[in-house]
Amino acid sequence: MTSENLQGHRPLSELVGASSGASWLARYSDSLMGVFGTPQRVLVRGQGCYVWDADGKQYLDLLGGIAVNALGHAHPFVTSVISSQLSTLGHVSNFFTSPTQVALAEKLLQLTGAPAGSKVFFANSGTEANEAAFKLARRNATNAAGGKRTKVVALEGAFHGRTMGALALTAKKAYREPFEPLPGGVVHVPFGDIDALAAAVDETTQAVFLEPIQGEAGVVPLPPGYLAAARKLTHDAGALLIVDEVQTGMGRTGTWLAIEGSGIVPDAVTLAKGLGGGFPIGALVTFGAENSARLSAGQHGTTFGGNPVATAAALATVHAIETQGVLAKVRAVGERLRTALAALPEVAEVRGRGLLLGIDLTGPGGDAAQVPAGANLAAAVVNQALEAGFIINAPGPRTIRLAPPLILTAAQADTFVAALPALVAAAADHLAQTAKETK
Ligand SMILES: *Cc1c(COP(=O)(O)O)cnc(C)c1O
Repeated sequence: MTSENLQGHRPLSELVGASSGASWLARYSDSLMGVFGTPQRVLVRGQGCYVWDADGKQYLDLLGGIAVNALGHAHPFVTSVISSQLSTLGHVSNFFTSPTQVALAEKLLQLTGAPAGSKVFFANSGTEANEAAFKLARRNATNAAGGKRTKVVALEGAFHGRTMGALALTAKKAYREPFEPLPGGVVHVPFGDIDALAAAVDETTQAVFLEPIQGEAGVVPLPPGYLAAARKLTHDAGALLIVDEVQTGMGRTGTWLAIEGSGIVPDAVTLAKGLGGGFPIGALVTFGAENSARLSAGQHGTTFGGNPVATAAALATVHAIETQGVLAKVRAVGERLRTALAALPEVAEVRGRGLLLGIDLTGPGGDAAQVPAGANLAAAVVNQALEAGFIINAPGPRTIRLAPPLILTAAQADTFVAALPALVAAAADHLAQTAKETK
């Protein structure tokens, strides 16, 4: 780009303008739809595992944009690949393909251990990857006896996204009920209960959808043996086993897929969050030739999906993870965090694997009685953590979640472990104070 092309244009900082955090938030509430509530902070910059807000305060990002920023913020390699691809070719539509799209599809087939004949469909998000998977399931429409398959089985506690198909797979009533009727035929069975799954999966079942670890439910892993049982039940009934690795995939748990090593071969896997290292992209990987032929020309599509920039971002992210020994670090730092957290009296239980951890809190010094009944301790801890310069989140009233960049160092992890007891104490104090004031 020559300076001539830029003449008459103002820098982005001037287009946006400068404001304080408080004034951005006031403008936010006047201009943005209220579906997310009030944002916790206005963030302006990131570097590695740190971000800064509009008032200059620094935070250690232990949430990574909800398991998205695999390589942290402003990773030099990912950034340079994105900008070089964008300045070469940015978007072409799916009437055309591009080398980065093909190269990423091949790479994903390799990383997921997909057998010969497997294929990839690219989308732009997790929910879109699951929409594609839902349509794939619908194409498993008849059983061996020539009867109809109409049922899709998902689990209680499941989160598969917010668009109508993915929402039908999602269990939470508060998310679903305002939008009914949803696409039909979906039943939810009790989490982790193999007998309940066996009772639900039959010759009318199109597919079973599973998360290996339910992230939004508070980082809850499937019990041992469940995946293998689900594989056998679906196989015997001719139903598809579709594994949602949107949150758990791409190295989050210390392996490329969370199901790696489980011994099962699924019919399809969905990916998104960490895949593009922060750039929006999702993918459906169909395992084997038969599954890969279920959606034929014209049966599904997307304008943006698999565009050159998104696929270049994902290629760069995967390359950096592979060449920088990131998966081994995820396992080591994850194990260190899990052990240290589990040893704190403030912690009742730590769940998850690698750098996806759910932490159930007790109370200050391990004393649950110091937390007012019915109070949301986890939300209060999230607020205290922000004040202290840590970003975490609370998927449940007693549960906090960590899903930091996969490049989190042991020293960075240790600062949070050291801070947590004081955060829980401050949160309980604050809750007790509020409870007194409202009496
Ligand atoms: C986040 C998430 C989704 C939805 O992804 P979006 O990109 O927000 O649409 C689907 N499944 C799981 C398991 C997720 O964690």
